[in-house]
Amino acid sequence: MNPVDLIAKKRAGQVLSDAEIAWWISAYTRADVPEYQMSAMAMAICFQGLNAKETSAWTAAMRDSGEPISFEGMAGFRIDKHSTGGVGDKISIPLAPIVAALGLQVPMISGRGLGLTGGTLDKLESIPGYRTDLSLDEFKRTVLTTGCSIIGQTGQLAPADRKLYALRDVTATVSSIPLIVASILSKKLSEGLDALVLDVKFGSGAFMSDFDQANELAKALVSVSQSNDVPCSALITDMNQPIGRCIGNALEIKESIEVLKGQGPADTWELTEGLAVCMMRLSGEARSDDEAREAIHAVVDSGRALARFGEMIFAQGGDAKVIDDPNRLPQAPHVEEVSASCSGVLKRIDARSVARAGHGVGVGRERADQDVDAAVGVEWLVEPGQELSPDTPIARLHWRDKGRAEALEHLRAALIMEGEVQPRTGRIKATVS
Ligand code: URA
Repeated sequence: MNPVDLIAKKRAGQVLSDAEIAWWISAYTRADVPEYQMSAMAMAICFQGLNAKETSAWTAAMRDSGEPISFEGMAGFRIDKHSTGGVGDKISIPLAPIVAALGLQVPMISGRGLGLTGGTLDKLESIPGYRTDLSLDEFKRTVLTTGCSIIGQTGQLAPADRKLYALRDVTATVSSIPLIVASILSKKLSEGLDALVLDVKFGSGAFMSDFDQANELAKALVSVSQSNDVPCSALITDMNQPIGRCIGNALEIKESIEVLKGQGPADTWELTEGLAVCMMRLSGEARSDDEAREAIHAVVDSGRALARFGEMIFAQGGDAKVIDDPNRLPQAPHVEEVSASCSGVLKRIDARSVARAGHGVGVGRERADQDVDAAVGVEWLVEPGQELSPDTPIARLHWRDKGRAEALEHLRAALIMEGEVQPRTGRIKATVS
């Protein structure tokens, strides 16, 4: 096949065949199709799109560019969750052990944070000793023995996505829905899953700003996963306000432990429970949402879900004592209460502003090769509907050596005092299945 002909075909809006797509991705993975030709193809796709069948074939070819994990012949139902990312989104951390305690297996390959939203791996790495770089054999063993394992991307899984994602980043081709779908699913469908749930977020703290865009992405993700034989459903959730009270790597582990003890913030519980219900329904372990909820509450109330988290931490080399004593997690040298400096009824907390405050003190990174600070972050102290006076403490800022002054400004800018009171719960706006 001739790369120039395939680029011209897509540029003209014609449909690529499964064979052409499989050849294209395989040649790109081997570097027989160079980056400049893939750039042209990605831009043609941005303008002309890929239809559902092409997106499915592109996804399968990207998955098959590496060595998908196989659990064939091994007992158990394996299911994972993917979130498009949000501010304070620590949901995978309590969700995986809850679902494992319910008898399912969660082989989760997760990412690091880039930009304003934090990454699950960065959060887990704040636990002293926790390894996110298990070999695939160690990963499989941990999934089979403890029911869940969360690690980072490995070179064997969907290498075409690793190359293409970096290329899209520098060629203004990130926003194409078919390319996003193929990127997300090529990695998830490499995990040897029996089913997948998705949390597709919209709002000021999300990748997609409005509901309609999130809905379009969710529908495409669900349909492509299903056409690749992995049953899938998605929740579309509101990401205009930060999730939970904490933004920061160790702080979010502490909050996840509270969720596993049944003491977490209501919105964090709502999302964790909603996704766990979807996982129970997709696996066939629950016949109704109520039955799923009852089982979820039972594993949390009995302490089995928290114990499972401890087992996963231990299996991955981490200090499992943090589940009983979260003070073993890294602590910032300075902790300071921030006052409101305004008065009136708080209507809403702006997720983006809180994320900026956290980012400035070192929660996240700008470039993939930068380190994050495990200890720093923000603990939010007030809720929408609350009457504020200028000296009401709105947040506790955990900081080390940078970003303090800007963080104070961003935290105060997060106080939205106009409009209707927006409760933080009621985040699940739709289900796509
Ligand atoms: N996350 C991914 O993994 N890929 C994308 O293209 C966008 C978000």
